[in-house]
Amino acid sequence: MYMGMPPQLSAEERNAALEKAKHSRQVRSVVKVRVKSGELSLADVFKLADTDPIVGKMRVAELLAALSGVGKIRANLIMERLNISSTRRIQGLGKHQIAALISEFVPSISRGKLVVLSGPGGVGKSTIAAYVRKHKSFWVSVSSTTRKPRPNEKNGVDYFFLTDQEFDEEIARNHFLEWAHFAGSRYGTPREPVERVLASGANVLLEIEIEGAKQVKAQTPEAILVFLEPPSWEELVSRLEKRATDSEQRRAERLALAQEELAAASFFDHRLVNDQVENVVKKLLSLASAH
Ligand code: 5GP
Repeated sequence: MYMGMPPQLSAEERNAALEKAKHSRQVRSVVKVRVKSGELSLADVFKLADTDPIVGKMRVAELLAALSGVGKIRANLIMERLNISSTRRIQGLGKHQIAALISEFVPSISRGKLVVLSGPGGVGKSTIAAYVRKHKSFWVSVSSTTRKPRPNEKNGVDYFFLTDQEFDEEIARNHFLEWAHFAGSRYGTPREPVERVLASGANVLLEIEIEGAKQVKAQTPEAILVFLEPPSWEELVSRLEKRATDSEQRRAERLALAQEELAAASFFDHRLVNDQVENVVKKLLSLASAH
């Protein structure tokens, strides 16, 4: 017999092998049915896989696709995002990958709410965000941007200030939940902290411009999109005029853009008029608990 040839099996041995394969298929299909019905959670299956090699040899993609509401396509997307190869078997998963998969599928009741606050530049989104930051039930995301810091802004607090090259790298690594161009710079929401906080059960607020808000909704339909409107157009103009840190040309650009942005309001789940900060904050908090 040459090396590498399959072993010669007697009829009896062949039957035994076929029986074994059939048994494995049956075990895996029972696991899938129990996962689909919600009887077994992902964590339960990972525990089973520790002691049962048949479960351990199951492909991760097959397991995820069995979860109710998760098809093959979504299973593949999730695995790609978590850097798990599409042919990986459960027994080949690392500790971090297991933890990431489990937190991805924490039942939606205990997951935090993702609230996206958007609206025209100058309407006062960042003031609202600063107030929301004081509430324990909310975590406010810190964005990355290629814009230069303003005099009193701190790296890691107001934004992560990145070079164009660094921003490109973050895009290439799929590190942004969304990103968009705004007034000559790029802005993006780092994905990982948002997912970590949501999985822990706390709510997350993103204060971002409109294109980014649309991207979030496309990826995460359960996100709550809130459009902040100025009490009046005149009020918005006067707020933008007061922005001393902007140059004349920048102010004009922002005004033209704000006009376009106001037209996007209908895309949002909720519209709030920014009459009084406390009022808006109260409504935002109650939206998150009502949904
Ligand atoms: P500013 O330069 O005045 O701080 O922000 C300009 C605009 O960028 C604001 O409308 C702000 O909401 C938006 N923005 C801030 N961070 C992000 C982000 O991560 N993604 C997107 N799409 N927009 C952002």
